[in-house]
Amino acid sequence: MEEKKGFGDLNREVIETGKCTLCGGCVATCSLLDYGYLSIDLTKERPEMRESHICPPNCGYCYYQCPRVEEPELMEGLEEIYEVVSKDEELKNACQDGGVVTTLLAYALADAVAEGCITVVDSGDWKPEVQVAMDKASLIKGAGSKYTPAATLTGIPVAIMNYGLWSVAMVGTPCQMAGYEKMLVVGRASHNAHNFSSTLRLRIGLFCQGVYSYEKLMNEFLERKCGINISEITKLDIRDDLFHVYSGEKELLSVAINEIEGYKREGCKICKDFSGLFSDISVGNVGSPAGTSTVIVRTDFGKEVFEYALERGFIEAKPIDKSGADLIHQLIKEKKEAAEKEMKKKQVEKGSVKVSAES
Ligand code: SF4
Ligand code: SF4
Ligand code: SF4
Repeated sequence: MEEKKGFGDLNREVIETGKCTLCGGCVATCSLLDYGYLSIDLTKERPEMRESHICPPNCGYCYYQCPRVEEPELMEGLEEIYEVVSKDEELKNACQDGGVVTTLLAYALADAVAEGCITVVDSGDWKPEVQVAMDKASLIKGAGSKYTPAATLTGIPVAIMNYGLWSVAMVGTPCQMAGYEKMLVVGRASHNAHNFSSTLRLRIGLFCQGVYSYEKLMNEFLERKCGINISEITKLDIRDDLFHVYSGEKELLSVAINEIEGYKREGCKICKDFSGLFSDISVGNVGSPAGTSTVIVRTDFGKEVFEYALERGFIEAKPIDKSGADLIHQLIKEKKEAAEKEMKKKQVEKGSVKVSAES
């Protein structure tokens, strides 16, 4: 019988090889199991064992639930695409791209779809920190795009065990949505510790073309190379293949995203999912005019939430233009192809693919 794998194998096969997305699923799972042996080292941007622990021989869930050990299986869902804007003036003004993500979360809190929302805040100098928001003010604190990694799934045990919540919404990147899907598939069939599978109700995925190492993007590039004082930055935005940095109304920098490609996390280079396939609702700023967001409704539950948010006057929406939908489909295809090419390249480098002399 094959010996059960564990964190040592996860470290060797995923973390050390640069495949880790930093979704936080392994840390969340270990905490939900009440071991709490793992944490995220934010400086190294990787999961680590807190100190040398002896894991129970029958565990190994951190390994099996990792979406980079084996991807979760995608079920066919809906794909209804809308151009959406918030009807809440406070949120519209405080947030990016029409405030749609924050308004959907505000609706979820208001209508008791969720008691708390897992989002990411700027903890100072644009360092991302996972939070559980339970009111509008905390939601606003988490608004705005951050392009450096946060292990969002670590918010799940915090919501359940620290705050005792029974219904939670989560916003995250496509890899985090996939990470949660894998946690569900493995956890439901085995431990389901703290009944976590029935707690996370609403999954909102963000369109993603990659995130960047904090040290490389913020310190090496923005601070040292471009001479920008990080504490003065009020907004980061990637739009139309340009990376923009603002301080209030003033644009401090605008560069092609190709220029920051070298700062992208290794794990993002083999990522195939642009649009958050494992979400109930996906949101992004591609395909819709400035000041609005594109929303893709993917599940029956997502549709229910979206329609109630419309009906209750939180958002307004119209079907997206064909050109917007075409652009999204183009980006979905391009990201998948780029990841497949990169994976092939890595396999060839590893020598695991035999390239014939003729080919
Ligand atoms: S991809 Fe997620 S689950 Fe896998 S090692 Fe990285 S943080 Fe852990
Ligand atoms: S094997 Fe179990 S106890 Fe050990 S790190 Fe993984 S989840 Fe935690
Ligand atoms: S590119 Fe993929 S792996 Fe990287 S943050 Fe986005 S969804 Fe996650």
